[in-house]
Amino acid sequence: MAGKSSSENRDILGMHHVTAIARNPQTNIDFYTRVLGLRLVKLTVNFDDPQTYHLYYGDKIGHPGSVLTFFPWPDAPRGVRGTGQATVTSFSIPEGSMDYWKARLEQKAVKFEEVAKRFNRKEEYLTFYDSDDLKLELVATDQAKKLRKGFTPWEKSPVPQERAILGFHSVTLTEEGYEKTASLLKDTMGFRLVEEERERFRYETGAGGPSTYVDLICQPALRRGMVLAGTVHHIAFRTSNDDQQKAWRQDIIRAGLNPTPVIDRQYFHSIYFREPGGVLFEIATDPPGFTLDEPEEELGTSLKLPPWLEASRKHIEKSLPKVELSKSLVQNQAIA
Ligand code: ZN
Repeated sequence: MAGKSSSENRDILGMHHVTAIARNPQTNIDFYTRVLGLRLVKLTVNFDDPQTYHLYYGDKIGHPGSVLTFFPWPDAPRGVRGTGQATVTSFSIPEGSMDYWKARLEQKAVKFEEVAKRFNRKEEYLTFYDSDDLKLELVATDQAKKLRKGFTPWEKSPVPQERAILGFHSVTLTEEGYEKTASLLKDTMGFRLVEEERERFRYETGAGGPSTYVDLICQPALRRGMVLAGTVHHIAFRTSNDDQQKAWRQDIIRAGLNPTPVIDRQYFHSIYFREPGGVLFEIATDPPGFTLDEPEEELGTSLKLPPWLEASRKHIEKSLPKVELSKSLVQNQAIA
């Protein structure tokens, strides 16, 4: 736009996805589809390591901001939750759903903590852990109506639509020192400080609200994190298109960081860089999305490979552990 500097038109819209490390792929699929009621929106491989699955869960079509992904490494040792890491991944649930979820987690024998409150007791949250001890939260929000415009619960989910997870709420970064990370978020990436309580600083971006929050926690006494099973590998932020991404890449370089070239991830395009506290950040484009290579009704029902790996499909399929998809889908329908 004439007369405006490019940075004024730059958009980080919120969270795009979070990628974590799991061990057993079947256990992972069962937990996220049958316990949390998310949809497996893509069954593919880690493009950088095609002997490993890449499992994507999200809402009905995997809207950016709803997508939690895993690399299952069956023999991986347990990681260490600590500084330089995204230590908590939080989902939004509608206000009034906490008792439902507490009962559900209890019934499914999921490890969880008592419901707690933060930010002057305004925000109610429930901390729980997946089968690999990944730390997660459900955060009650009064903005469910607004969130339903962006996130569509899957109708075959075992969780009733009115209780369903509505995308991410936030991600928590635990840092030894927070100043440089805060400056990157604020001065380079356009985040705004919206809440603070003791050592927790909450930033938001874009339109603000759930799925745009990053909580920064400063815990210098905590041990350094180690990324292995049960920890977050990286977090990705949304940008609307390839031009925005190119411009962001230049801004990240100007900020003294070292982003990768743009990498084609098939369902989005990505750049990666390490923020000053050590967390791996990604900026990913919204398009083209998960319906690129299979129709909406078939998302996640068969192994998808990018064109450059199709020639090795036989070899890849042989080396991947078997997973049962139909079982979890059919049972989901039965429970619903
Ligand atoms: Zn990613």
